[in-house]
Amino acid sequence: MKNIVILGATGSIGKSTLAVVDLHPDKFNIFALSAHTNWQKMLKLCQKYQPDFALMTNKDAALKLQNALDNNTQVLAGSKNLNEIASHPQTDFVMAAIVGAAGMASTLTAAKAGKRILLANKESLVLAGDIFINTVQENNAELIPVDSEHSAIFQCLQSGKSGLRKIELTASGGPFLHTPIKALKTITPDAACAHPNWSMGRKISVDSATLMNKGLEVIEAHYLFALNAEQISVVVHPQSIVHSCIHYTDGSTLSQLGNPDMRSVIAYALAYPKRIYSGVAPLDLSQNSPLEFYPPDLDKFACLRSAFAALKQGGNAMGALNAANEIAVEAFLNHKIKFLEIAKVIEKTLEKIDNVKVDTLEAILDNDKNARQIATQLL
Ligand code: NAD
Ligand code: MG
Repeated sequence: MKNIVILGATGSIGKSTLAVVDLHPDKFNIFALSAHTNWQKMLKLCQKYQPDFALMTNKDAALKLQNALDNNTQVLAGSKNLNEIASHPQTDFVMAAIVGAAGMASTLTAAKAGKRILLANKESLVLAGDIFINTVQENNAELIPVDSEHSAIFQCLQSGKSGLRKIELTASGGPFLHTPIKALKTITPDAACAHPNWSMGRKISVDSATLMNKGLEVIEAHYLFALNAEQISVVVHPQSIVHSCIHYTDGSTLSQLGNPDMRSVIAYALAYPKRIYSGVAPLDLSQNSPLEFYPPDLDKFACLRSAFAALKQGGNAMGALNAANEIAVEAFLNHKIKFLEIAKVIEKTLEKIDNVKVDTLEAILDNDKNARQIATQLL
């Protein structure tokens, strides 16, 4: 029996993780759950799963949860306590599913404590990739990607890295793949969040619409698989059935396919190196529409170009890219800027920032704060 901690339990990945755990009560125990403000949803989860700990990072929400709960679950408050549950001696697996830079510290703590990390929070790697990967290695932690593309590559790489030429991340292209650039000027947040294939939280949905999600994933792949920018490419594949490919020098290409449902990825990460039932319908290729592949349009989706540029630049550029993106996406979701302005805020932030090395966590956090200030001024 493995004790599972879900950081970000009330989100989309949290929900899919619980759905897989529900299918295997003999293998997984929900030991601790965290959420930000939605205490009502957390209350329902506590009643169902009876975890040892329930943590609300928002202190008012924690108080409300405490007053409403009538079981033995211990309620914790505040983001510092994320570290307690991530590193608790009884914790086996940590699902890192908080959205944004807010998920970094606890994911790093899980790495320090040598846990198996099921990594959905790609922003941790974008912000602190070098430190994070070193911490995983030094503490014998296990890092299993929970991103469909990276899981696909991780699965394909089980056959080894020898003769690897490059990896190719597939991108659905989001809801605006075929929308002319002029029409993008008036896109609403709800339209941007209506993804054709995947059901996700609002921040990553906007990231998918701008293709910044793919940009963050290129950086994520750089750290996860120790590859440089030239070894990582992106291909648009609107059906989201082929979840990425790896190409070898002998001309072979390996790929992992499946219906677009994160439960497959999560089940793989939970059971690795075994495989367990995920509840996802088997893929029936004969019933699918034709599979299409296109090169990405970097003029229309400038965020992807900025992400490649930040990766090539290195140092603090990737953290600045992430920070500016978080600020710009939030402003867009709150109707403060237009859809196409997201890319502009990011580009301008990167122009204004001095490119320096960031070797310490302190420098990373300073850079994040500084880039957020610049992006906020640009709004
Ligand atoms: P979501 O918005 O649905 O859920 C986010 C979770 O984080 C919630 O439980 C929320 O309570 C918590 N949270 C939000 N702000 C917080 C804060 N400041 N402090 C602590 N907790 C906070 O997001 P999601 O779609 O589940 O995505 C989570 C992560 O997984 C993101 O990093 C995303 O990029 C990644 N991811 C998601 C998918 C997907 O299909 N949804 C796929 C791949 C990767
Ligand atoms: Mg992905």
